[in-house]
Amino acid sequence: MDFSLSEQEELFVKGVRDFARGEIAPLSKQMDEDGIIDQGLLQKLKEQGFFALSFPEEYGGVGLNTLTYGLVIAELAKVDAGVAIMVGVHNSVGSYPVLRFGSEELKKRVLPEMAKGHLGSFCVTEPGAGSDAASISTRADTVDGGYVLNGEKIWVTNGYHSRFFVVLARLDGQPGHHGISAFLVERDNPGLSVGAKEDKMGLRSSDCVSVVFDGVKVSGENLIGEKGQGFEIAMASLDGGRIGVAYQAIGLGEACLDAATAYAQEREQFGRPIAQQQAIQWMLADTATELEQSSLLAHKAATLKDQGKPFSRLAAMAKYSASEMANRAADRAVQIHGGYGYSKDYPVERYYRDARVLRIYEGTNEIQKMVIARRVLQGEH
Ligand SMILES: Cc1cc2nc3c(=O)[nH]c(=O)nc-3n(C[C@H](O)[C@H](O)[C@H](O)COP(=O)(O)OP(=O)(O)OC[C@H]3O[C@@H](n4cnc5c(N)ncnc54)[C@H](O)[C@@H]3O)c2cc1C
Repeated sequence: MDFSLSEQEELFVKGVRDFARGEIAPLSKQMDEDGIIDQGLLQKLKEQGFFALSFPEEYGGVGLNTLTYGLVIAELAKVDAGVAIMVGVHNSVGSYPVLRFGSEELKKRVLPEMAKGHLGSFCVTEPGAGSDAASISTRADTVDGGYVLNGEKIWVTNGYHSRFFVVLARLDGQPGHHGISAFLVERDNPGLSVGAKEDKMGLRSSDCVSVVFDGVKVSGENLIGEKGQGFEIAMASLDGGRIGVAYQAIGLGEACLDAATAYAQEREQFGRPIAQQQAIQWMLADTATELEQSSLLAHKAATLKDQGKPFSRLAAMAKYSASEMANRAADRAVQIHGGYGYSKDYPVERYYRDARVLRIYEGTNEIQKMVIARRVLQGEH
């Protein structure tokens, strides 16, 4: 499998690297403290087309393939994993359901707006339904001309800023995962209210909110795909989203390795840099090796997706592998920094907090292992 980029793609990724270092890195510490993205930076991200990366050109998008897109997410995560997930959610689960399953009318109306930077969110999780997404209780009831939604979603990434919400709801009280449909709801729909931001452990530049639907009426045109197809749409969208999470973890892992390597060469104990101690070298070697392993899995998943081949198993493996790697990389980076690693004066403290959620969202790693094992048991390995 060939994972090389074209010259144009290489230049694009380099441009993102320069932007991330120049425009995002100086703000990361402050955004972590404030618990919200810098509004000037958000405007720049919109102007630079970060919210159009994965959209086809016909809808005003940049039209990146998945491999290049993944490397862009990694560059963002290397300086700020919160900004990376904000861009990632919008370009995958927040818009992909419309792009892949929406009617042509819905695509033409919504995607160019999203590509301009009107953010998208993905609303599945509820107070009583997390890993078991098929157990959601948000309702959509058929009325004249459309549907009325009632229920509550939680942990909605981007919801504080979003104009568009992809919402999974149970249609007319039908049971099971075949009873679930997907709808596009707009922020100005009467009855939609957005709750306070979660006070999160990490990824603090990105926001998560609850969203309440209290008699929200949407037109029949806002149904995404077919009635009863919502669960399938969510699972297909999460497959792609997991590749993005894998690259987010890879970027964070690279940041941990860079910080740990620089510190190990500069910090002296017992009369020489700690980098000369084999115990420290082994930690660096482990992180470097695991980074390569995870990158290969992510590149393979991305390339299969770009080739139009089944990639669900590889996406789950890539997300599982990279998120575990990033947690180990962050732990080692803190260890190499000693006491200073426990201080907010050094970025590894933030990396350690940012890494933790990678094992939880877009399907916990226990769920990834269920996905992988199911495929293995079906003989797909
Ligand atoms: C920062 C952040 C951003 C998020 N963004 C979004 C978003 O944009 N949209 C959205 O819809 N959701 C979002 N989520 C929610 C996220 O997807 C859920 O938290 C996740 O799916 C787990 O659900 P839960 O929290 O209810 O945990 P639970 O499902 O209650 O799981 C608790 C524990 O039990 C384990 N477990 C559960 N079932 C099994 C099983 N069958 N076998 C083995 N172990 C099991 C889990 O792995 C976990 O360890 C976000 C969450 C966070 C923290």
